[in-house]
Amino acid sequence: LEPETSSGKHILSLPLYFEERKCGAVYLVFGADRFSDRKVFSDDERNFMDTLRHHLGLIIENQRLFEEAITDSLTRLYLRRFFLATLDKEISRSKRYQLDLGVLMLDIDNFKKFNDTYGHQAGDYVLRETAQRLTESIRTVDTPGRYGGEEIALLLPQTGIKEAYVVAERIRKAIEGSEYNYRDLKMKVTVSIGVTALHLRNVSMEELVDEADRALYIAKNKGRNQVHIAPEAM
Ligand code: GH3
Ligand code: MG
Ligand code: MG
Repeated sequence: LEPETSSGKHILSLPLYFEERKCGAVYLVFGADRFSDRKVFSDDERNFMDTLRHHLGLIIENQRLFEEAITDSLTRLYLRRFFLATLDKEISRSKRYQLDLGVLMLDIDNFKKFNDTYGHQAGDYVLRETAQRLTESIRTVDTPGRYGGEEIALLLPQTGIKEAYVVAERIRKAIEGSEYNYRDLKMKVTVSIGVTALHLRNVSMEELVDEADRALYIAKNKGRNQVHIAPEAM
């Protein structure tokens, strides 16, 4: 029990374990009045603390396992399955409350070149860094998913086509303008992005993803390193 000098309160820190592995800590704060001189706790108090530690340890471990199960280990983006489940929920929510919803599909330009020229490890590095730059350019409410090999899908709740385009451009520029230094290599990376939005239409999840995909395909054909808006969203 540690005295906290400024307030006269006492803090008891209890480490949390899950199967012998430390997974967190809980801090109990005791008011100055009753517990300031306590050195020992009763059996009841000890039992309460043990139960609390046990339950909190389980909750934290469950959460960690869940996060791990829905996250791609290379990029730290969500897995496609979780992305689609989230998209499905967001579409329903957007239709119910008449909200807009932006969807982006991004693909790294000439990605095979990185693998073929510098090896698969360098390719993995490009993929990981690109995911990182993208994650830094979005809000916490946005959901990024690793959709395919080097394709990233992004879901933007309450975002119309204009804003979605702005986000896509911001991501594209962030990637184009940043340095990719792998060992002593300096690489230039660009991406193409297809954008669409729901804007009160009655389209399915599959159709929405298809629109973004087709827009991406057009961005590729128009020369890569650009954003293209799906005609359906105009
Ligand atoms: P484009 O500009 O048309 O997209 O050209 P591209 O070379 O990027 O073509 P494409 O998108 O078809 O290339 C995908 C390549 O990505 C093929 C595959 O070998 C590689 N790839 C997929 N997943 C991974 C991965 O996890 N790590 C690495 N290093 N490469 C991957
Ligand atoms: Mg590609
Ligand atoms: Mg691809």
